[in-house]
Amino acid sequence: MWIALFGGLAQAAAAAEPRVVVFGGDLDYPPYEWLENGKPKGFLIDIEDAIARAGKADANHKQAPWPETMAALKSEAVDIVPMFRSDEREKNFWFSRPVFYAHHAIFTKSDPGRVTDLSALRLWRVAVEKSSFAHDQIVAGHPVGELVLASNTNDALGLLADGRADYAVLADQPSVRLISKLRMPVSKVGTPFWPREYSFAVRRDRPELIAWVDRNLDEVITSGEFQRIQAEWQAELDNPLPAVPLWLVKGWAPFAALVIGAFGILIFVLLRVRSGLVKERDRRDAAERDASFLVEHDRATGLPRRSKFETDANSLLKSSGGDRLKLVVLRTEDVRRGENKLSSEEFSIAQSLVGESLRDLALLSGYLCDKRFAAVISAGTTHGIVETIGRTLHHAGYEIELAWGGARFPEHGRDTHDLLKRAELALSACSASGRRWAVFDFAMESSLEADRLVRDFLAFGKDDVFAVYQPQLDLESGRITGAEALARWNHRELGPIAPDEFIPRLEKVGLLGQLTVRMIDEAIKESVRFRAKGFPIKVSVNVSAQDFADRDLPDLIDIRLRELGARPEDLTVELTESGVVTDPDLVRSTLAKLHRIGVRAAIDDFGTGFASLASFTELPFQELKIDRLFIERMRDSLSHREAVGSAINLARRMKMEVVAEGAPDLATIQLLKRMRCTRVQSFAISPPLLPDELISFLREFGLKDIFGGPRADRLKLVGGLA
Ligand code: C2E
Ligand code: CA
Ligand code: CA
Repeated sequence: MWIALFGGLAQAAAAAEPRVVVFGGDLDYPPYEWLENGKPKGFLIDIEDAIARAGKADANHKQAPWPETMAALKSEAVDIVPMFRSDEREKNFWFSRPVFYAHHAIFTKSDPGRVTDLSALRLWRVAVEKSSFAHDQIVAGHPVGELVLASNTNDALGLLADGRADYAVLADQPSVRLISKLRMPVSKVGTPFWPREYSFAVRRDRPELIAWVDRNLDEVITSGEFQRIQAEWQAELDNPLPAVPLWLVKGWAPFAALVIGAFGILIFVLLRVRSGLVKERDRRDAAERDASFLVEHDRATGLPRRSKFETDANSLLKSSGGDRLKLVVLRTEDVRRGENKLSSEEFSIAQSLVGESLRDLALLSGYLCDKRFAAVISAGTTHGIVETIGRTLHHAGYEIELAWGGARFPEHGRDTHDLLKRAELALSACSASGRRWAVFDFAMESSLEADRLVRDFLAFGKDDVFAVYQPQLDLESGRITGAEALARWNHRELGPIAPDEFIPRLEKVGLLGQLTVRMIDEAIKESVRFRAKGFPIKVSVNVSAQDFADRDLPDLIDIRLRELGARPEDLTVELTESGVVTDPDLVRSTLAKLHRIGVRAAIDDFGTGFASLASFTELPFQELKIDRLFIERMRDSLSHREAVGSAINLARRMKMEVVAEGAPDLATIQLLKRMRCTRVQSFAISPPLLPDELISFLREFGLKDIFGGPRADRLKLVGGLA
């Protein structure tokens, strides 16, 4: 059910929208970044400005000596710093997608050791920039005679020029630039090495910020802005100097060539230059290959991403002859390790193990996103493959369940696009029916075809469906302390469609899960943002009984909470009374997991089913929402008033908070306050609002006691609350 139609989930969009971001960077690192007459300049500075523009934030730049910049990032004085990505650094920072690839190289004044690579530095004094990637690498595994620390690239080059170090290991490009800019008697030896991603880093406790960077960097790339900036800097980014050993050019060889006029030596020099150039080009080609590998492949699993998978699968299908092939979409669910829940790292390991096994077992495999893998296999082998993956993971200490949907080639589609669509449909149909697997069948599609709304939801839901938030008023404090996320669909042709209209239809064809995932994701993101803006309110999301039957739900919530840096207690899931009754055992286990994570749960629409509150005693609900039907009539009807009163009393005894829905007027709200109801959610207080509207509403009312406040009359409450 958790097929992600919505790419937004996978992209882990940012939770908080920063207004100002502070980019830290090196003081003198041309052509990437440097300070000129007090002004930051360089390729990276332009990219940073573009990222901030895409994110509608202001960019501040703080250029400082490198060790200071690193310290500033750690101490929160700056938010984002571009740097070489490394395993070591990944312990402390999140990294964005790569901005470019770059090399390191060895530099020297006189090449006393005739060095061609790192292993030859064991006897020499080697300068590096403190806290740099090269510093880490050398400490971790490339012993040198004596390490001489510099605070910047030009200082390190200065140490060479002054004879205080014999060699320096530095980023290739900036060093070459500085050498020519400052006319230093220093040059590069050997060929460049360590082709590496240069990416933006943020502290580990700010996952929402790296999501923000990635999102806006994507925007900068897709809008063509990146290419424009790159073109502007192209001349400086291209390193024109070949990697020719210094001694060859400046030492005895050219001299000999001149004096003796030995053509052989000249040819030798030229060959060396050429081979240097070829090596340089090979290195660059390798870096480009690395780059395109990363673009085309999922980082965690190493498998091709969707578009590459589609291309490869199409060729495979074309050349398959008469083989009976099947395309399956597999989804991992309920990944566990013993009784403990998985850390994000463990989860990634489990995912990568699935990827590895699939690569071995299938004819072709790929990673779609949201825990879904795709594979082309020989028809009839699916169950065996699924079982083998399960066993492999079991040996590694993980328990995993795999659900899959399949589509047969060529009956169900002549190309990968159609087959994928149909395999995914089968997968969502099998989740809807609670099964572990399903093969596509045309009847599945006809139930979709029959319903225009369902078709349109699949086609445009990603863009046209969004969340609004209806504030909840706390009756004791008179403040807004919560909000319910409600789905809105602004249909491009039919206009607004009520949730009562489209939600049941999505539920019928097993697609509601897609909406739920999106709503949960949005709600978590917004809760982080509301808190960041100074309004720590609880956000509720509606979850259907069908969603609750998906054992993946708690895991998904848990992972997203952690990824987005949200507090579990800020999220409440609402399950309707009738949903609780459908399958109490399943609800119990899902609720227990949510409870362990720390997410709150509410019984929604209480009073519309036939359950008594006492039947919920055993279930860990923290909140009861009384249906509007009761609240609307309580002012005029004694029996409704009594029913509400006893529900409130019982709920309080069960340590649950009570939310009254749809109180029509001030009199009812005051009545509810006297009856010790916890909160009210109704049009009388506010209709559902867009996130930014809610923030404005909270600015006005969120921190004030609405009952006592002077602005109480500005609430929509009939007669005001003052
Ligand atoms: P609900 O969960 O009971 O949500 C409360 C509904 O009452 C909302 O209607 C809200 O706009 C409405 N409401 C709030 N105060 C008042 C009031 O004072 N008077 C009246 N007449 N109505 C009030 P909405 O947004 O039209 O949603 C209707 C139902 O659709 C929701 O009822 C919920 O069952 C479902 N729904 C909405 N969004 C989602 C969603 O994201 N997922 C799921 N599964 N269901 C959703
Ligand atoms: Ca609700
Ligand atoms: Ca309700």
